[in-house]
Amino acid sequence: MARYIDAVCRLCRRQGEKLFLKGTKCQTEKCPANKRPYPPGQHGKGTKRRSKLSNYGLQLKEKQKVKRIYGVLEKQFRRYFKIASKTKGVTGKVLLQLLERRLDNVVFRMGLGISRAQARQIVRHNFICVNSKRVNIPSFLVEKDDLVQIKAKEKALNKIKENLELAKDRTVPSWLEFNLAGFSAKVLRLPEKDDIQQPIQEQLIVELYSK
Ligand code: SF4
Repeated sequence: MARYIDAVCRLCRRQGEKLFLKGTKCQTEKCPANKRPYPPGQHGKGTKRRSKLSNYGLQLKEKQKVKRIYGVLEKQFRRYFKIASKTKGVTGKVLLQLLERRLDNVVFRMGLGISRAQARQIVRHNFICVNSKRVNIPSFLVEKDDLVQIKAKEKALNKIKENLELAKDRTVPSWLEFNLAGFSAKVLRLPEKDDIQQPIQEQLIVELYSK
């Protein structure tokens, strides 16, 4: 599966807001979105004020933001939207729920990775079991009552322990029951919009794709 491999801070600067794509590292004063609050690239600095966006521009921007936060490319994002629009419930909320249920996001929410990108690596490296079976697909969707557990050798486990220490101020969402001793989390229920801390206007994405 293709993924974005350029500098992620460019994405925040392009978006015009902090997306916290480097997790705990984003809290430092070195954050480029603070230091250089203009779009990246040769002509970025000349852009003194971001022009007022049209309705379409706002919709597009919100979609880009959600894709960037979850590290999902257009084709896959559109697929999630298709599934959400065919599922019973409010399409925008189901869309966010699908993204939150991704295994890489669950690993990130547990605090095992300092960012979603790192959590994705942890999954790809075969360190995660779901209901005692190894799963190395970051887009795997967890279900209610699933048990997500880390099974890694000592060296990798030590790195993950460091991550947990760095993420100790981050609260694990209430839809996951985290067990620190067992490096595991049980999915108590499916996530809701309110479980997502970052402000997202999902209705703008629905309007964009419904044209
Ligand atoms: Fe975005 Fe974090 Fe980079 Fe700041 S440090 S620009 S919040 S990814």
